[in-house]
Amino acid sequence: MQTLETLAYLLSAVLFIFGLKRMAKVRTARQGNLLAAVGMLVAIVTTLVATRNIDIAWVVAGLVVGSLIGAFAAVKVPMTGMPEMVALFNGSGGIASALVALAYYFMHQGAFSGGRLTMAEVFTAGSAPTLALSLLVGGVTFTGSVVAYAKLAGKITGAPILLPGRHFLNLALLAGALLLGVLAAFVVTSPTLMAVLLAVLLLAAFLLGVMLVIPIGGADMPVVISLLNSYSGIAASMTGFVLHSAVLIICGALVGAAGLILTNLMCKAMNRSLANVLFGGFGTADSTGQGGKEGYTTVKEASPEEAAMILEDAQSVIIVPGYGLAVAQAQHACKQLGALLEERGAVVRYAIHPVAGRMPGHMNVLLAEADVPYEQLVEMDEINPEFQNTDVAIVLGANDVVNPAAQKDRTSPIWGMPILRVFEARTVYTIKRSLSPGFAGIKNELFEYENNLMVFGDAKAVLLKLIDELQES
Ligand code: NDP
Repeated sequence: MQTLETLAYLLSAVLFIFGLKRMAKVRTARQGNLLAAVGMLVAIVTTLVATRNIDIAWVVAGLVVGSLIGAFAAVKVPMTGMPEMVALFNGSGGIASALVALAYYFMHQGAFSGGRLTMAEVFTAGSAPTLALSLLVGGVTFTGSVVAYAKLAGKITGAPILLPGRHFLNLALLAGALLLGVLAAFVVTSPTLMAVLLAVLLLAAFLLGVMLVIPIGGADMPVVISLLNSYSGIAASMTGFVLHSAVLIICGALVGAAGLILTNLMCKAMNRSLANVLFGGFGTADSTGQGGKEGYTTVKEASPEEAAMILEDAQSVIIVPGYGLAVAQAQHACKQLGALLEERGAVVRYAIHPVAGRMPGHMNVLLAEADVPYEQLVEMDEINPEFQNTDVAIVLGANDVVNPAAQKDRTSPIWGMPILRVFEARTVYTIKRSLSPGFAGIKNELFEYENNLMVFGDAKAVLLKLIDELQES
């Protein structure tokens, strides 16, 4: 029975790994998702079969409540609200890991049946500290994610809240929590004192989570969420050690590593260090579409009718979506325009910058929702050499990711950030509501380029006008 159980867990771990591998490519992502889901099913069924004396009513009740909340959220939450939802998921993962580890300890300590086992008697010496680590990382993940959610959802200010002496306080909280963990794991034997220690440790972790995330600007939250995702994996892994569950250790480690890799990729794509994101207070406000004309001199404007005239004869078009596409929910109109141009004989592609939008893969998700064929989505490095042979580049609610200052102005805050070289196309149409800056809050030199024409308006409204004009011509 034990061998069968181990083999089943091994199978589910293998399914997770292959699932993740397949998720790395758009073409195989659905299959990867399915493989990972089957892996999860195998792990859950094995755990239910292997755990005897379990009251199945609790399991079913949890399943029903969880599924209802999940289904409701999946239907209700708009695409632009995805980062908030992921934040809440991470937080739930973190607190669940901490609570499961805690429950396991109290059950085996005999606290509920009058027993008085010490930590060392419940755990082997090696796994005793993992309970403390699970509480610490799980607690930080929980409150950190709740703050990240609140900032993104506008429930609290998105601006950095910089408390005096915060670095010192954070260090003190971390050191205190680690000390409590060591005391709990190796020194304290009284069950009552142990319960107090663990409760204080969890409270310190909660406070640390809040303290670590409040100084970070709302617009940097996606990077923070990716990091918190990694923490939730680490907390799960620690709980895996507490429960002696190999599959949980492996799953947690996969999430931990994947989150770290993603965080690193996002920082690289913004040419910023993780320290700069965590301590920088950068990019705190989103554009409102008002004003921003200061600093611009030679901006040229075109109406949708004029833009449609050039598009009529275009042989090659590259559409560059950005955060504004998500705000305007213009993905379907965008796909419609692309299809119309193709019907008229143009080659149409979509250029995807790794940090366009407000979460990793934001543009891929939006365009996939509108059924844009994934062969037409081209990554930055691949599409950049193509701009110079392109008739029209349509910049759709993107700003920082096409700002030439990143390559031409050493003093720019985004200097060194890789960009889409749209300015090399013969004609560029930049569709946005105003000259307001994007996330980085800086002027975009592109707007003054000779070959750039601004088409002012909401992305969806402008696209619908362009479609009308093209259909009439
Ligand atoms: P930006 O934030 O640079 O620009 C978005 C533009 O969209 C704004 O200038 C705004 O201009 C325009 N816009 C907003 N609403 C509409 C609308 N309804 N219709 C038309 N336009 C609209 O976005 P990018 O995608 O170019 O760049 C992403 C930025 O976010 C980068 O700086 C990146 O580093 C950062 N970031 C990305 C993360 C990620 O995971 N993807 C994570 C953290 C940061 P206007 O108001 O004039 O309409």
